[in-house]
Amino acid sequence: MPEAQDKGAAGSKTKNASPGKNKSRHDFVEGDRYAPAPENSEHVVLKESYDFYIGGEWLRAPKRTETRNPATGEVLAEVGEAGPGMVKKAVAAARKAYEQTWSTMPGRERGKYLFRLARLIQERSREFAVVETMDGGKPIRESRDIDLPLVAAHFFYYAGWADKLDYAFPGRTAHSIGVIGQVIPWNFPLLMAAWKLAPALACGNTVVIKPAETTPLTALKLAELIEEAGFPPGVVNVLTGGGKTGRHLVRHPDIDKVAFTGSTEVGKMIQRDLAGTGRRYTLELGGKAANIIFDDAPVNQAVEGIVNGIFFNQGHVCCAGSRLFVQEGIADTVVRKLKRRMDNLVLGDPLDKNTDVGAINSQEQLDRIKVLVDSGKEEGAKCWQSGQKLPRKGLWFKPTIFTECAQSHQIVQKEIFGPVLAIQTFRTPEEAVEKANNTPYGLSGGVWTDKGSKIFKITSQIRAGVLWANTFNKFDPASPFGGYKESGLGREGGLQGLAPYLDLQ
Ligand code: NDP
Repeated sequence: MPEAQDKGAAGSKTKNASPGKNKSRHDFVEGDRYAPAPENSEHVVLKESYDFYIGGEWLRAPKRTETRNPATGEVLAEVGEAGPGMVKKAVAAARKAYEQTWSTMPGRERGKYLFRLARLIQERSREFAVVETMDGGKPIRESRDIDLPLVAAHFFYYAGWADKLDYAFPGRTAHSIGVIGQVIPWNFPLLMAAWKLAPALACGNTVVIKPAETTPLTALKLAELIEEAGFPPGVVNVLTGGGKTGRHLVRHPDIDKVAFTGSTEVGKMIQRDLAGTGRRYTLELGGKAANIIFDDAPVNQAVEGIVNGIFFNQGHVCCAGSRLFVQEGIADTVVRKLKRRMDNLVLGDPLDKNTDVGAINSQEQLDRIKVLVDSGKEEGAKCWQSGQKLPRKGLWFKPTIFTECAQSHQIVQKEIFGPVLAIQTFRTPEEAVEKANNTPYGLSGGVWTDKGSKIFKITSQIRAGVLWANTFNKFDPASPFGGYKESGLGREGGLQGLAPYLDLQ
């Protein structure tokens, strides 16, 4: 089965992607309590270099960069850096496919392609999970049990909508938009590709998508599956490259809509780039979620929720519960239990099935985390880090909490995008709501309490697009996701996720 994915790249050799395979757990963590349980990566075959997937063909990339495993520093493959010429070719291929095949194809036929792709993803999900972990640094348990099942679920979900668009918005007629330019980040590379591609394609649009520079591999492997599923040429085009490639794509005049997930800073640049062009856009940007624990909450469950909220995917999560608000009477208990739980997290080899906290995605991101953590110390908050030893090689950051935080501290106001939690206390529900809303972001939040009425009251007062009650970081393709304020605009997922890809008349 792995051989199938290597068709199509002229002249590129293949190599076994087993950089982690001979690495004993000992190379990562010493003296911990579990026997190593490494995921086998021998079945994964990566090419030495990847080209651009444009118009159903693999076009040679003249300029290349390396993509590395952040846990080991090893080079996994070389990928192309697309310039304006390649962007032009990809947009032209998408336009041709839009006009000649995809937009005129009956919805039920488009749905069949999407169902086929969803099934192929399920069949190959273990392989994709391993590649996601090697390229991005996230624990295999997460890529295997969360990312990949959600990726397949998204394609299944939107495949089901492809022939029902006329019923989705009663009284209105749904038309596709055209060519969509999509730019995605590195924290959930394949899942973000699925969130973008599935609704766009179901609605009859064609796509040019650019994954992040540090995590391009699963998007390129997805292009191989798209090829295997027999999609008409040009319906999906995958371009790799850095921020410049993204900028060429979003500014291309023949793009009808831009769908972007990433930082608020770049989101604002895109808004400026598109201002006055009449082209549509949706933006899924940063967040600084409040996770609020009331004194009637089940404390042990809440502590698990805090851990999941901030240490899932090393905190590289836009909706991470990065600000914790604990009601004063239980604050000491919660912090004590949280510290004990943090000390028990297994940090190290992301391919080990015991691992809870993997590698930081890039040196740039690690530096950003360190700068903000230093600012927290300088501004007077009290820092505590868990006791794990960091592996000798690779990019790592210990699970970290800050107590004695003030609203004005940078660690409370800025998105850190790492395993760092800022803890504050509150006395009354009103104080919790006021502090929770005191941020430029409005993506997500969580409330922990025994009282249903309190859940309804508090969640209706928090200005955030997604709110969880007595749980955190739960996702479902049928449920809309998106933010208010500087966390962006537009929704992905659910019925609401169809509308931005349709012209409703
Ligand atoms: P960016 O916003 O820079 O990157 C997101 C995507 O946009 C990447 O594919 C990137 O390419 C691309 N890009 C960068 N510049 C431009 C541009 N001018 N025009 C079009 N596309 C562009 O996020 P970073 O990866 O630099 O992370 C910075 C911060 O953003 C993080 O610390 C975090 O705060 C936040 N973030 C939020 C995410 C979310 O899901 N809400 C996801 C990732 C980051 P490339 O990566 O190749 O440079």
